[in-house]
Amino acid sequence: MTDVILTLNAGSSSLKFALHPVAAPLIPVLRGKITGLKRAPVFSVSVPKDHGADIPTLALDTTHEQAAALLLRWLADHAGGHHIKAVGHRVVHGGQAFTQSVRVTPEIVAQLAALTPLAPLHQPHNIAPMRMIAQTAPDLPQVACFDTSFHTTQDPLAKLFALPKALTDQGLIRYGFHGLSYAYIASVLPEHIPGASRVIVAHLGNGASLCAMKDGKSVATTMGFTALDGLVMGRRSGRLDPGVILHLVQQKGMSVPEIETLLYQKSGLLGVSGISNAMQDLETSDHPDAKTAIDLFCFRAASEIAGLIPALGGLDALVFTAGIGENSAATRAGICARLGWAGVRLDGAANARHDACISSADAPCPAHVIPTNEDAVIAGDTIDLMGKI
Ligand code: ADP
Repeated sequence: MTDVILTLNAGSSSLKFALHPVAAPLIPVLRGKITGLKRAPVFSVSVPKDHGADIPTLALDTTHEQAAALLLRWLADHAGGHHIKAVGHRVVHGGQAFTQSVRVTPEIVAQLAALTPLAPLHQPHNIAPMRMIAQTAPDLPQVACFDTSFHTTQDPLAKLFALPKALTDQGLIRYGFHGLSYAYIASVLPEHIPGASRVIVAHLGNGASLCAMKDGKSVATTMGFTALDGLVMGRRSGRLDPGVILHLVQQKGMSVPEIETLLYQKSGLLGVSGISNAMQDLETSDHPDAKTAIDLFCFRAASEIAGLIPALGGLDALVFTAGIGENSAATRAGICARLGWAGVRLDGAANARHDACISSADAPCPAHVIPTNEDAVIAGDTIDLMGKI
């Protein structure tokens, strides 16, 4: 039997999972996901590629909690030769209290539940599998790893909104997200770009954000109080004049749920193009609105990169990661074309090949592609904390 860590990453409609050996957490022995929860769930396994095990069919209304229970039962039958030693959970919000990963206890679950108003679409789904495991396997250690923790080192000014201090004191600050991805990139940065101190990392996936890192620590980021702020995303608007929301309420009579759906589900690449939230679909479309959506994505990303440079006092390197950042040469080129003044110059052939270094040899500011690995951070933190249990 090999001891493994189960990592769980619950999104708004999905549950991703992986098994990492305790001895080598970077390489999963099993990886898969359940997507389309509460609509039309689909269970799939991507590692190993030739996984022949019978894949379960799920009821259409399967919840996150039920999906986690089914997954544990399925793993008991199909994770042959592997013994789950602990579970590591991705948790979207750790508020101001959780500056690092923690062992899950009933008190911690209660504290995480109290943060639900800060991330109502995600936090309950992160907590549901914790509660289910605590009930069905009370001896299995669990660890919570937060998307916000990495940004607790931000410059105090970068966390502030220009709102009355009383609201700031109530927790209306810029928390930042995608921290597990940034923590992974920070951990491998020295081997990829030795000596780079002032780095901007662009995590460009369905959700997208930037992190300005100084010596591997977050000093500013584009997501704020919620994961709506900053870049254009697959379905989310990103940065918006707050007056737009007042207009929608006062002049258009829109309700709060309608505005929430508009900003989280119907905007971004999907809203602008009217075609798809996926960059890959837009790149293969010849519709002019698809091109507008891509151009806006690149323009806004370049503008936000420029906006983070004062927090660093200069730029030593630019890093692309996540689905779009790792795979879309055209998007990287579109963003970098607007950053020549900052010393970013791509090598077109290297960019087209998705090389690790995509900038020309004489570029003052190198640009790199580094695949992210949030699961490895969750597994690594879980192993570290188990040592302290
Ligand atoms: P999530 O935030 O859901 O984890 P991902 O990091 O998987 O998202 O990124 C999904 C995005 O990456 C989608 O917009 C998808 O179209 C895009 N993407 C993935 N592969 C490619 C590719 N080869 N070319 C262009 N875009 C791609």
